[in-house]
Amino acid sequence: MKIGFIGLGNMGAPMAANLVAAGHSVAGFDTAAPAPEGVIMAASAVEAAHTAEVVITMLPNGTILKAVAAELIPAMTKGAVLLDCSTVDVASAREVAAMAEAAGLGALDAPVSGGVGGAAAGTLTFMVGGSDAAFAIARPLFDVMGQKAVHCGPSGNGQAAKICNNMILGVTMIATCEAFALADKLGLDRQAMFDVVSTSSGQSWSMNTYCPAPGVGPKSPADNGYKPGFAADLMLKDLRLSQAAAEGADADTPMGALAAELYARFVEDEDGRGRDFSAMLPRFEARGRS
Ligand code: NAD
Repeated sequence: MKIGFIGLGNMGAPMAANLVAAGHSVAGFDTAAPAPEGVIMAASAVEAAHTAEVVITMLPNGTILKAVAAELIPAMTKGAVLLDCSTVDVASAREVAAMAEAAGLGALDAPVSGGVGGAAAGTLTFMVGGSDAAFAIARPLFDVMGQKAVHCGPSGNGQAAKICNNMILGVTMIATCEAFALADKLGLDRQAMFDVVSTSSGQSWSMNTYCPAPGVGPKSPADNGYKPGFAADLMLKDLRLSQAAAEGADADTPMGALAAELYARFVEDEDGRGRDFSAMLPRFEARGRS
């Protein structure tokens, strides 16, 4: 397939490289990042996109996505699909999709989970919003870049699924970390704590797969000095998106709101920026009740 790829950063570069390795022709554009192996760099986003059958965007946020989409959409070939894999707010995703569809294009919002490791290995999970027809066109690309693509319904529903998932993740990671810190203070061995909780009703992905305690459970960023993995800053971004969505939809999300507040404090005031989001454990370890 002829693909345009806009945004070749930490995630976009390995995703584009996997598409090239699978035999697709990829024209790329980024305002700063260098060309990944096999990607032909264009002089502008429009040049990368105008003859492509699918244009993939992997950008930092909704404001940038809307600006890039406003340039791309009028230049794209009718019937082509604009496939946004960035994590952005639901409202921006729906706006961009409406603009694309009005111009005779297909549009999908398809945020990912799996991080940089999943992008490099081609094992991402895509959560996809948009029409059946656009999903069918993009399907072979999801199969190259990921191991699973779930069609969640109309435009915006991919972003909705992503932020609901990550709201659960943020809350359960905090709960797991504060429970470890309490267990420490009660004299409970961390391995014993893991052995019980990981096979009891307190189990979760945060405990069982991504245990925040070093040396306990499967290998995780905790075993690597809390180098990300999934950075606390990105968790904060997703928690803020979930709170913005909850406000817009009049949904009561007190645990999500508190998780957003704690990650904001961690990232902005407590040296959490650039650390893995599971570094909440040393944060709790160092604190008392006040
Ligand atoms: P990144 O900052 O490494 O990459 C973004 C790229 O977009 C950069 O190279 C930047 O130069 C480029 N860019 C910015 N404005 C541009 C423009 N106007 N035109 C063209 N290029 C432009 O970020 P990332 O880690 O690759 O994340 C990308 C998206 O994926 C984000 O929405 C993020 O939330 C999401 N995401 C990231 C991860 C992760 O672990 N890194 C995991 C899941 C989802």
